[in-house]
Amino acid sequence: CGIVGYIGHRDAYPVIIKGLQRLEYRGYDSAGVTLFDGENIHLAKTKGKVEDLKNKAEASIPTKGKLGLGHTRWATHGVPNDVNSHPHYSNSGDLVIIHNGIIENYESIKQALIKRGYTFESDTDTEVLINLIEEVKKKEGVKLGQAVQIALNQVVGAYAIAVFDKNKPDEIVVAKLGSPLAIGIGENEYFIASDASPFIEFTNNAIYLEDEEMAIVRIGKEIKLRKIKDDSIA
Ligand code: GLU
Repeated sequence: CGIVGYIGHRDAYPVIIKGLQRLEYRGYDSAGVTLFDGENIHLAKTKGKVEDLKNKAEASIPTKGKLGLGHTRWATHGVPNDVNSHPHYSNSGDLVIIHNGIIENYESIKQALIKRGYTFESDTDTEVLINLIEEVKKKEGVKLGQAVQIALNQVVGAYAIAVFDKNKPDEIVVAKLGSPLAIGIGENEYFIASDASPFIEFTNNAIYLEDEEMAIVRIGKEIKLRKIKDDSIA
């Protein structure tokens, strides 16, 4: 399983597809990509290989956009199929997530969210996490980074995640516990990946997150690592 993300001045799609191919060695059963084209987010995902994803994406969505996330899934909750593949959206359609790992207490969180009116398309633990982030963001009236932090303090499990809000497409929030996550730093561009192989030809400046660290990856801002448990993100 693997994750790839891009935000910057290039077309994200080729960076993401090539990156996912380089992460194929990690094993997976499905793959997906989401792209923000400046106005809308477009999603393609499929059970099968990155090559299948490429064919599906190129036939079904505009593969343009300077912000994007890609994922290869190794199913833990929910069978390998198109719907359970990542990325996943929140109920509002504003928030997007890719996730490697497991949210162990997803069932109780899911039941609480259902009571608050949330609905779920997939059987994944990941779709529960993105809706928990959305609920926290709405309820607490906080920014995305803070909402991710608060939500992660309520979950038990392992994760490498990347999340963005289509209403604030200049940043991607990332966090890690158990699964690997690296940020590649270019000039006015950032790469996110499970290891450095997806961005090796673009930059050799990389940060590897430690467990329980998160970061807000924002164009024009230096990366500052935060502890998920301690600091409150402003
Ligand atoms: N637990 C998530 C799922 O089953 C992520 C699996 C993965 O690491 O790819 O969808």
